[in-house]
Amino acid sequence: MTSETILGMDEQQLSAVPTRFLPLLRFPPAIEAAYQRETGPARSRELFWRGWVGLAIYFAMLVSDWYVTPDVFVTALLFRLVLTPIVLVILFIVWHNPPAVVREGLLVVAVLLIVSSHLGLLLLSTAPTREIQLHILMLPILFMAVQRIPFYHALAGYLGVWALTQVAIFLVRGKLPTEMVADEIIFGGAVILCLFAIYDFDRATRLNYLASLRERLLSLRLVSLSRQDPLTGLANRRALDEILGAMEIGRSGRIHLAVLMIDVDHFKLYNDSLGHPEGDVCLRRIAGIVRSELRERGDMAFRFGGEEFLVLLQGLDLPAAIAIGERVRQAIEAATIPHPAEPAGRKVVTVSVGTAAMATDDGLDAGRLVAAADAALYEAKRNGRNLVYPPLGEGRAELAVISGDDAAAFGS
Ligand code: GH3
Ligand code: MG
Ligand code: MG
Repeated sequence: MTSETILGMDEQQLSAVPTRFLPLLRFPPAIEAAYQRETGPARSRELFWRGWVGLAIYFAMLVSDWYVTPDVFVTALLFRLVLTPIVLVILFIVWHNPPAVVREGLLVVAVLLIVSSHLGLLLLSTAPTREIQLHILMLPILFMAVQRIPFYHALAGYLGVWALTQVAIFLVRGKLPTEMVADEIIFGGAVILCLFAIYDFDRATRLNYLASLRERLLSLRLVSLSRQDPLTGLANRRALDEILGAMEIGRSGRIHLAVLMIDVDHFKLYNDSLGHPEGDVCLRRIAGIVRSELRERGDMAFRFGGEEFLVLLQGLDLPAAIAIGERVRQAIEAATIPHPAEPAGRKVVTVSVGTAAMATDDGLDAGRLVAAADAALYEAKRNGRNLVYPPLGEGRAELAVISGDDAAAFGS
């Protein structure tokens, strides 16, 4: 598995994003999706709890309603009665981590509803102090900035507040004092300053996310390099140990796992006759052949050490593993890599293969499985090399460790 597939994105896409400027506050789609996916749950919880604070402030504003528009105080109570369940439904949805556009959009809707209720009081009241209801708008303006609503949502929210206010002012035109013009400038200024802060914050958050994403991709790539054999490009012994360890503890239910232990025959003589560099080339070719004979999914090849390779075959029993071992052996022989010092007269590079398979319900014992394959390899060497051992039909290396009544079902 590569680092790119872990994060579900392509590294090139990531480096194509400018790091210093992100003027439109948008990532390319794959990164945008990862950003929303990774930040969504925490943001939802944060907004949920802050939503309660907003609701509490909305109730606290009843005190100012009492002083500013006492003639419509009952209406103010009624507005709370109607809006509270709506806000609670919104908080319920936000808690369940909806898509960002819904989550932030719902918060803006809640703010606009609350703004509308105060403008409603302004319109319905005849109290001389009623225009102070407009001053209350400073709270939703600040609320959206402090809750760090993403820039475009905040922009929509502020435009909504402004439009609603203009309608209210239009409806009471002539009845409000001329200081309202000054108020509009003050409020407009506040909105613009808040938008600057929101824009800067949104961009800084995104740039931070991008930097952390790059760091994570880099460390994942380094980790994956440390599990790769540099000569052959196969996974190394360390990766094998980790995978087997994970299989031992992380699996439940029936496990079928087979192992091929592949060792190059008379490789010391190959090195001695053609030189170590040529030996390296030969190992690379053999690794390539082994890899090409395996299935895309379920099979994994490792450089076990020196001129030995290990293949894990998931879901296979011993006869199937022997068949694959035989296929690998034949493919390497058929490549006719010259081996001038080969003592049996074949004069080409060959391999011996030991196989073992295990089927178990009781948890995998990987050490036992690998040891059984190694013992089979030893037998293949002893019986003349260029062999797969055990031969088909002689299932002596099969380790049937099935618990209970199933034991008979997987005999050799
Ligand atoms: P057998 O058929 O019994 O396996 O004989 P062998 O000569 O292959 O086995 P032996 O264990 O005696 O020798 C293995 C040789 O593999 C010795 C070592 O120099 C060589 N070898 C191990 N790793 C590398 C490598 O990375 N590159 C090269 N060129 N040779 C290697
Ligand atoms: Mg060896
Ligand atoms: Mg060898």
